[in-house]
Order: sequence, then structure tokens, then C-alpha cells
Amino acid sequence: MEPTIVSGKEVSNKIKEEIAIAVEKLKSKGVKTPHLAAVLVGEDGASRTYVNAKVKACEKVGFNSTLVKLESDISEADLLAEIEKLNNNSDIDGFIVQLPLPNHIDEQKVTEAIAPEKDVDGFHPVSLGKMLLHLPSFLPATPYGITEMLRHYNIPTEGKHCVVIGRSHIVGSPMSVLMARNSYPGNCTVTLTHSRTQNLAEITKAADILIVAIGKPEFVTADMVKEGATVIDVGIHRIEDASRKSGFKLLGDVKFDEVASKCAFISPVPGGVGPMTIASLLKNTLLAVELKN
Ligand code: NAD
Repeated sequence: MEPTIVSGKEVSNKIKEEIAIAVEKLKSKGVKTPHLAAVLVGEDGASRTYVNAKVKACEKVGFNSTLVKLESDISEADLLAEIEKLNNNSDIDGFIVQLPLPNHIDEQKVTEAIAPEKDVDGFHPVSLGKMLLHLPSFLPATPYGITEMLRHYNIPTEGKHCVVIGRSHIVGSPMSVLMARNSYPGNCTVTLTHSRTQNLAEITKAADILIVAIGKPEFVTADMVKEGATVIDVGIHRIEDASRKSGFKLLGDVKFDEVASKCAFISPVPGGVGPMTIASLLKNTLLAVELKN
């Protein structure tokens, strides 16, 4: 079977074009230019890459952006004070604190310190609670991006069996909620699997839609996937590769080469979920401005 490649790159570019038009409209109405800030603690290479990509995406759609760079040994109290400054800065519409944070800082405390109306990553308990109740809110960026990919490709979801691998607070758990909601995409029968799940392959083989966020390179193999399934790969792993200029290659949680031929739809890595996460962040920031006005 020749699968349709679910190109996050393509969908995110379309979303960015739509956002750029919306920004122009806001400006012409005299409403402010959306402004996203990102807080980066320390010098972790992957985090820096993600944050830089987010800042670049802001420029592309006409948002203002601010990068707040902090030393890795910053105290928790000082970081919380920086967050308070962003909460009180009326020009900043939304901001994110790039995770992971150094071990001496309590990530949950930091997440809860972000004003819910500026929580464009959608990780605050208020945002997650609203999502559960199907109220308008900032949806967590990665699961939100995945729903937009499914929508763009008109992938049928109603009545389908969706299996999610991984129950993290930022990907797997909210993903399972969104796929079960009474909407499109949604209305799936959802199975959420995790590290204590038994007979995982039996369950994944019964999936019409398989969303993989396990964080293990090429974990999902062809024998775990049903013929004709839709497979969405959330994983991102930098694997050393001396033959490349960058010194590394990117792999997902799915063994793409052997799984793809069984699928009706499959998302690649790179160029799949990654760019969609950024597009969702921009969408959430635009929503923050619209809600404020
Ligand atoms: P995580 O490490 O927090 O969670 C992994 C989950 O996998 C856990 O809930 C665990 O219970 C489950 N798990 C572990 N072993 C299992 C097993 N044998 N069977 C079933 N489940 C098992 O990971 P995360 O933060 O959700 O991220 C997952 C992956 O997605 C990572 O590779 C991460 O880098 C990537 N990611 C990508 C994006 C993006 O924008 N593309 C965003 C977030 C995360």
C-alpha cells in the first residue's frame, strides 16, 4: 500500500499563512501585534533549537517575540520572579517556559505560576481542566497540532479505535482526551497505553489510529500495526551520525521504513508532528490576543 504522508511541514506552513493574514487584519484594526515570549533556562542543545525555531516562526507570521535567556543555576525563586514579570507585562500576550528545567527547579510549580490567560503551551491546570470540559481554552500544543493534522487530511475518526502510547501530561494524556471528545477530530474509542500495559502489540494491532509518544527510537515495528491504519509519530530523537553535516540524524518512535507500507496515513520524522507543535503555539498566541480584545 502506498501511504499518504501526513506532512506537518505542509500543514504548518498553511496555518502560518493563515495566521500572517490574521495578524495583518489585527494591525489594520489598530489592535496590537501579537507578542510571544519564550523562557530558556540553561544551554541544553535540543531546547535551544526548539526555542530558536519558535522565535523564527514568530518572525515569519509577523508576531513580536522575546527570548528570555537565564543561567542554568538560576534559583527557583528567581525564575518564578521572571515569570511574574511576564505575567504583569501587558505587551506580552503569551509565553512559554521551555521544558525540561534543571533538576533543582520544580516544573509543576513553574507551570502553575504562569497566568492561565497567557498559558499558550496549554500546560496549566486551568487550561487542562477547560480542555476536559470542552470549554474554549489553550489546548496543549502537541496534541492540538495532531488534531489539526488529522483535520487537514480529513482522516475519519468517528467510531474509530484510537490507541495512544504514552501517558505524559504534555502529550499522551491530553491526546487521549481530545480523541474521545464529542467533536471532529474525536469521537474515537480510545485506549491509553503506558509502561504498565500488558500485551501492547495486541492492543496496537487493533488500532485504526495509532498515536505514538513513548520516547523510544523506532519502538513501533510493522508487526504492531494493522493494515490500513493511521500512524502519528510524536517521538524525536537525535542520533549521532558522523556522515551528516549537523552530526546527527532525527528518528521518531516508529520504524518508518517498515511501518509505512502498511498504513493509509503516516506522519514522518522530521517534518511531521514537530512543526505542528510550533504552529499550535502560534495559534494559541493569536487566540490569547483575540480573547483579550
Ligand atoms: P515521556 O517520556 O514523558 O512519556 C513516555 C511515556 O511512554 C510514559 O507515559 C510511559 O508510561 C510510556 N511508556 C514507556 N514504556 C512503555 C512501554 N513499554 N509500553 C507502553 N508505554 C510505555 O515522553 P513525552 O514527553 O510524552 O514525549 C514522547 C516523545 O515525543 C519523546 O521522544 C519526545 O521527545 C517527543 N516529543 C515531541 C514533541 C514534538 O513537538 N514533536 C513534543 C513533545 C514530545
